[in-house]
Amino acid sequence: MVKVSRPDEEKYWANFSSSGKIAWKTGTSFGNRDAWAVGITPDYVVGIWAGNNDGSGRTGLTGISAAAPVLFDIFNTLQPVRSEWFSMPAEDMSEVEVCAVTGYLAGSNCDEHKKISVKNIAYKNLTCPYHHLIHLDSSGRFRVNADCHDAGTIRSQSWFVLPPSVEKYYLIQNPGYRTLPSLRNDCSNTFLSADEMVVNYPRPKAVISLPELTEGNRGSLVFEAAHSNLSATVFWHIDEQYAGKTTVQHQLSVSPEPGKHKLILIDDAGNKVEQEFEITGT
Ligand SMILES: [Zn+2]
Repeated sequence: MVKVSRPDEEKYWANFSSSGKIAWKTGTSFGNRDAWAVGITPDYVVGIWAGNNDGSGRTGLTGISAAAPVLFDIFNTLQPVRSEWFSMPAEDMSEVEVCAVTGYLAGSNCDEHKKISVKNIAYKNLTCPYHHLIHLDSSGRFRVNADCHDAGTIRSQSWFVLPPSVEKYYLIQNPGYRTLPSLRNDCSNTFLSADEMVVNYPRPKAVISLPELTEGNRGSLVFEAAHSNLSATVFWHIDEQYAGKTTVQHQLSVSPEPGKHKLILIDDAGNKVEQEFEITGT
């Protein structure tokens, strides 16, 4: 976290340089409702949250602009006790070969490897799950298999495949990411079919507390789903009541009453996913 500084944030990083060495991280929730920053040194941990007490969001309310300046102001008032930075526990570390793209232990389908030092207990059986050997037709545009395509002309190659729930975020920072080619229509589906549409939040059978923030204002939750087809439209229903539709960014702000509910998602191809959840209110 000592290296945390995105290009668009460099100017802030320069502003904070008087604060000495701090490992820090910021975050901003959906709709600019929560802006937070956490920093750590060998002496102190400081956490800052900024937001409105009624839970409403505000443009420009981000971790880097609203919470980080306060974090660094506070660190500037704190006297360091220890002069040394954290030392690496070399005796508990070992060198491992990892996938250069994902950082997991390199698997047989990972093309680029690199060696890094890690804690001995950190890397047990965590082989890269994202590089898969896939089989393409001669055009390279469609996935095929030996049941639907001449085995002699199938092109097999390693492909970096993220779960749909992660893919959309990765694409924002990595426009060069190539989504998994579609399975050709005449080939039976053998890959990712179970993951076509998933609910990320709420989790299955989640019990969520949604208290009244001010009288008559229960506040809201942001439900989130992911779809492996980036052009899909998802129609959201709570207890059979239509709640809205989403494309690309499958996030929907909802405010369910206390009680047990069923979230039902249907995409434009007719696929359906259901998830039960419960709201408690105080
Ligand atoms: Zn890999």
